[in-house]
Amino acid sequence: MLLPHNPNAFTRSPLDRAGHHRGDRAWLEATLDLPETRLIPFFQHRPFVIEDHGVLGPGWLHGLSRGRIAPPDAPLLFLGLDAQKVAHFAIDIPDAAPLGEVGRFEDLRALGPRLSREDLSILGPAKSIFEWHAKNGYCANCATPTLIVEAGWRRDCPTCKTEHYPRLDPVCIMVPTFGEKVLLGRQKAWPRGMHSALAGFIEPGEAIEEAVARETLEEAGLIVREVRMHSTQPWPFPHSLMIGVLCEVENDQEKIDTTELESGRWFTREEAQLLIAGKHPDAWAPPPFAIAHQLLKTWAEEG
Ligand SMILES: [Zn+2]
Repeated sequence: MLLPHNPNAFTRSPLDRAGHHRGDRAWLEATLDLPETRLIPFFQHRPFVIEDHGVLGPGWLHGLSRGRIAPPDAPLLFLGLDAQKVAHFAIDIPDAAPLGEVGRFEDLRALGPRLSREDLSILGPAKSIFEWHAKNGYCANCATPTLIVEAGWRRDCPTCKTEHYPRLDPVCIMVPTFGEKVLLGRQKAWPRGMHSALAGFIEPGEAIEEAVARETLEEAGLIVREVRMHSTQPWPFPHSLMIGVLCEVENDQEKIDTTELESGRWFTREEAQLLIAGKHPDAWAPPPFAIAHQLLKTWAEEG
């Protein structure tokens, strides 16, 4: 797949991560004080948003305003530089009160469909990193409190010197197909009529294709014959990397594992097109924001 063709939300960030600046404290400090530098606050892993005439967008502040909204030790993250070389930072603030009058903090997942791809691609990594910081304050090797370094992209242990990198969980997400039919699953907790792709974490020692085959067999009792890579999606809830595939299975005799799914249902290609268009009479699929939608869309349009 050509890079500009990734259809997924949270991809194709307009920022250059400019990782060579991460270890340069003097550059970071000086850059934060530039009037054009942009800063997005997060509170309890929720980005700050402002609604202006019904249009919702990230509540970008000036880098200089950080002293007014956060203590000096608030976790700070250098996100990168835009095409005009303007630096973008995120900051995790401990108190929402100083900004209460200006805008609000909202859950990124709920916000997702209302924000542009560009905004999501900038906010996503900040959400993942701040959540990782919040849960990883101590060294996993020796239990000493660790320190944030590399402009927010690493934690170092001052005692045993272990370097801790942000966690990323690879997940395979797949739509099994058999000829002109596609199988979607349903979890009990989902809203009525919702059906989606199968998915599961990839385990150590597994190739992606092997994880796809194992999960498809475990969840639906189907043997995978062929795996076709589709696209991938950073999914910051909290820090997954979704690896989307289409897989052809040996037959349509599914046997759903009801501890994981409530049911499975085969849809024809015509029905898949209706699901994508939101016009199926009694079922619906996730919105374009989710990679499951893109997988189904690709298959539906191939017919
Ligand atoms: Zn340590």
